[in-house]
Amino acid sequence: MKLKLAIAVFASSLCVSIASSQTPIAKPPVPEVKKVTASVFAHQRFVCNTGYTLDACQQQMLTLRAVLQKYPVADLGEWTWVLVRSQDWKRLLAERGLNSNTAAITLLDKRIIFFEEALVTDVPGRGPELILQWGSSREDLLELAVSHELGHALCHEPDEWKADAYGRLLRNHEEFSCKTYSYLKNSHSPKGQTALVAR
Ligand SMILES: [Zn+2]
Repeated sequence: MKLKLAIAVFASSLCVSIASSQTPIAKPPVPEVKKVTASVFAHQRFVCNTGYTLDACQQQMLTLRAVLQKYPVADLGEWTWVLVRSQDWKRLLAERGLNSNTAAITLLDKRIIFFEEALVTDVPGRGPELILQWGSSREDLLELAVSHELGHALCHEPDEWKADAYGRLLRNHEEFSCKTYSYLKNSHSPKGQTALVAR
């Protein structure tokens, strides 16, 4: 399976990995963020895919973690957060048959979330492309991606509409419960379109 192959590659040929419980990073640009969030991220693993330099990995992971810390990550249990360079991302999308406007992927069974580099730093070409496709700034796209994927992860929810609805609750700081939309039927359709159907 291509999926298993991709995971094996990520697991065996990482160029850089940052464990949340460790502080081996030299010259962290924003040490306050790491200190404050150490316990929040106690069970989270942060990894940069093959091709990243240590410096780029550190910088971009700090951007991701700065957004993540605003959400109830401590309730997640153990998950792995992977950054993938934009130049490698489209191949990943093609292998999985995903639309080019996809910038994050959650593998519920593996407890892994992949984020494209263009969400956390300016990437010429791909950055403007995503901004145009989604009609949002990069900062808003990162916020949207993090909250949406957390909707999947926190509720172990495979349905796209429901994950989006849970993500919206998180972004708007509304009361959050995985029971809120559990009574609704799933919204998958063959074309990937979503529609809400009440039971
Ligand atoms: Zn989703």
